[in-house]
Amino acid sequence: MTSSPPQHSSSSSNTNSPSSILIIGSGLFGLTTAYSLSRRHEFANTSITVIDRSDPSSTSTFPSPDAASVDTSRIVRADYADHAYAALCDEAQLQWRQQEKPTDLGAQGRYYETGLVVVGDATTPAPVAAPPVEGDVSESPHKKLTGMDYARKSWENVLSLASHNPVLAERIRELPNVDAIREVLGTGGSSGAWGYINKNSGWTDAGASMAWLVEQVRQTGRVNFVAGTVVSLEHNETTVTGARLSDGRVLTADLVMVAAGAWTGSLVDLEGQAVATGQVLGYLDITEEEQEILGTMPVILNLSSGLFIIPPTNRILKVARHAYGYSNPQSLPIPPLPASPGSTSNPVVSIPRTSLHDPALCIPAEGEADLRAALREMAPLPGLVDRPFTKTRLCWYSDTRTADFLIDYHPYWKNLFVATGDSGHAFKFLPVIGDKITNCILRDCPPEFKEKWAWKEWEGSKVLFTEDGSRGGKPGLILDEELDKAAQILPAV
Ligand SMILES: Cc1cc2nc3c(=O)[nH]c(=O)nc-3n(C[C@H](O)[C@H](O)[C@H](O)COP(=O)(O)OP(=O)(O)OC[C@H]3O[C@@H](n4cnc5c(N)ncnc54)[C@H](O)[C@@H]3O)c2cc1C
Repeated sequence: MTSSPPQHSSSSSNTNSPSSILIIGSGLFGLTTAYSLSRRHEFANTSITVIDRSDPSSTSTFPSPDAASVDTSRIVRADYADHAYAALCDEAQLQWRQQEKPTDLGAQGRYYETGLVVVGDATTPAPVAAPPVEGDVSESPHKKLTGMDYARKSWENVLSLASHNPVLAERIRELPNVDAIREVLGTGGSSGAWGYINKNSGWTDAGASMAWLVEQVRQTGRVNFVAGTVVSLEHNETTVTGARLSDGRVLTADLVMVAAGAWTGSLVDLEGQAVATGQVLGYLDITEEEQEILGTMPVILNLSSGLFIIPPTNRILKVARHAYGYSNPQSLPIPPLPASPGSTSNPVVSIPRTSLHDPALCIPAEGEADLRAALREMAPLPGLVDRPFTKTRLCWYSDTRTADFLIDYHPYWKNLFVATGDSGHAFKFLPVIGDKITNCILRDCPPEFKEKWAWKEWEGSKVLFTEDGSRGGKPGLILDEELDKAAQILPAV
């Protein structure tokens, strides 16, 4: 059961703007917030600092290369089962579509409106609920959707959003069967039993868009970038006062915002709120001829299997899986900030493991098999299906139970704000999310997201799976166990 968190956090920032804000993490959430704060009159006198684990010798690597926000591509879609997120993307796309000037967000190859095919499988059962924990008799209050349910709701939402504009509406078409799906894909492959194509959706070059965003933030001249790793939050009995870095430095601030993506749980106890899950990606070098065929395909996303392919550019094809993912529970040398003052936190937390610090890291065989299945099904070009991946990657989500973001003041610690719980779908909101987060800091959260983004009081199982109907794979997989199952392929990057 969810209930409202206690109204106990009365930070000094309730009514007065803080004189200093420290943002931990320069990914999508951290950087868009810094940009928004720097342009809002309420924060005209606030000093804004952004810290990241980025390379201290470089001024251009924010965010860190293993951040979720850095990759070749991210889907931009209003195709959501939830109407509020669909409408938020609709708003964001107004800016993604700006491409006239080279400095416009969508220009210079940062945004492609290639269309998106959304499909679901006919036979997939409803997702498995979290396994029962001893003494836990609670049930998830959230209705579990199948991938097909999600696809159908998403279809209704995009049709409703486009209903005011015949040009947009005309670009959405039902694909009632496998053959119709095959025809629009144009790769010879198909996926799912029913779906639709939405030509108003597309994808962005995420790395290039983040580089664009860093430049916008730098140009404001308002934001101080610090390279360093936060090891713990500084606090007194009731209040968070800053952050301690691995080199011993301490940064203090009136308001600390933790936007450390999937790493957030290593700094703040998120038990029952969000968990870091690793997701598999594979990249293939393709020939000029293959580029020509696949370069014109739409994005394809199967909401039952979670498998998706984004059209290749520069002869690199990416295939991925939006899944329950792998958790990576580790005992931390410094436990995260406890759930409330006076309590203790569990030092065992799922944290990201990436090839930045573990160059030999592979993806589990189970994940690779699914990526191969995606190629076989969605892009079955001769010679492609069995071609070794040029590289693979584990990329980390901060997953919440409902796939809603977690953007709120901490209910028990004063002067602490979190912006995390991206649940693998936040990138598309780059043009708009920073302003929404700033509104939340000003305690003016958009009404449609007030409950969704709030810190949840979870009284039941602490085992957490995202159950929004969009995930493939199996729930409950643990990274080390999966890696042990087979000696595996190429190093991840
Ligand atoms: C495989 C994959 C596919 C995805 N596909 C899509 C998609 O198609 N469409 C879409 O909209 N979204 C997609 N997403 C989701 C999107 O990329 C994320 O929602 C978004 O990038 C999350 O941003 P973030 O700021 O929360 O986290 P991140 O980008 O991970 O940023 C967190 C930052 O915090 C820093 N940090 C962490 N710990 C510390 C510390 N202790 N000290 C200092 N700094 C720290 C990290 O170095 C990092 O730079 C995908 C994500 C993945 C992984």
